[in-house]
Amino acid sequence: MGFLDKVKGLGKEMGIGLSGQEQYQRAYEKGVLLQPPDYSAAAKNFAAAGEKFLKEGNGGMACLAHANAALYELVNGRDLSAIPEVIQALEPIGEVPRIGSQDEMVQTAPLIAELTALLHERQAEACDSSADKTTEYTKAADVLMKLGNSTLEIAERLNLKGPVDKGMMRAFYCMALSDYHSALAVVMTSPTQAHDLLQKSAAEFRQALATDWSETVDGYIAQVSSKSHCWMCGREMQGRDLFYMYYPASTEEFHQRLLENSNEDLRMIDREGHVTICTICGSSIENQADRYATMRADEVREWATQVLQAHEEVLENHNDRLRSLERAAHTH
Ligand SMILES: [Zn+2]
Repeated sequence: MGFLDKVKGLGKEMGIGLSGQEQYQRAYEKGVLLQPPDYSAAAKNFAAAGEKFLKEGNGGMACLAHANAALYELVNGRDLSAIPEVIQALEPIGEVPRIGSQDEMVQTAPLIAELTALLHERQAEACDSSADKTTEYTKAADVLMKLGNSTLEIAERLNLKGPVDKGMMRAFYCMALSDYHSALAVVMTSPTQAHDLLQKSAAEFRQALATDWSETVDGYIAQVSSKSHCWMCGREMQGRDLFYMYYPASTEEFHQRLLENSNEDLRMIDREGHVTICTICGSSIENQADRYATMRADEVREWATQVLQAHEEVLENHNDRLRSLERAAHTH
């Protein structure tokens, strides 16, 4: 083999001198169909093939190659911020080969729907307010619900939480998250309304088979629906640690009998050494205690400063006397 042939061969290896079609085929052989597949190499070869198809005037294949490049880049890097670009690359074409296959084609419309839903989920995660999260998760759920029982094409490859197999299952999951955040948004206004929303959310998490979530939400339901009277003001409050809390207190059996005899709420002292107080009474006591503590701390600081200052003066005095004694000793 002559030198020029070698260079030519080397160029071929790097993809130089390949036609668009050859480069496209190379994306499969040196990327998608490898065991294990190298999706990074696939994406690069598809992108290069796209450029070549463009130069060759083959617009249709250029679009397909670019769509493949975008898809494999997404699957390889799992960078969800690239989703809008992937959607854009898929929009001009009707179908693409399924990820991992060369011949099996899938329609782009459901794929775009799936990516749109994932984009809404991503936006929901980035939102600060519960109300905005609710809106984005609802949008995601609506899109996913339309995919029904069909299998999701890409979600499973992106390391996402929640169900990634069927569109409908993920829709339930997003609905549950939407109701959960909706409950958080209203809980400080109406624990009753929050309770209803949490119940809906738990049922949806169960439909989505997200057991860890449904169990967590069940715990919140118990918390939000629990009630007790305030020992101090006597009002009934709903929502443990939200509108009433357990405070350490000295309680005796006598107090229980006292409540029983007067037909009062026994839940006030149902935890040993504790009493339930509403958050208004409780916080006013805490604030007052805090005020006294600060006052006392200031007093102590003032007293200590005076004492230390007096000590300092005594020490300085001693030093002066010591120095004059030393001087006297030297002169004799
Ligand atoms: Zn109270």
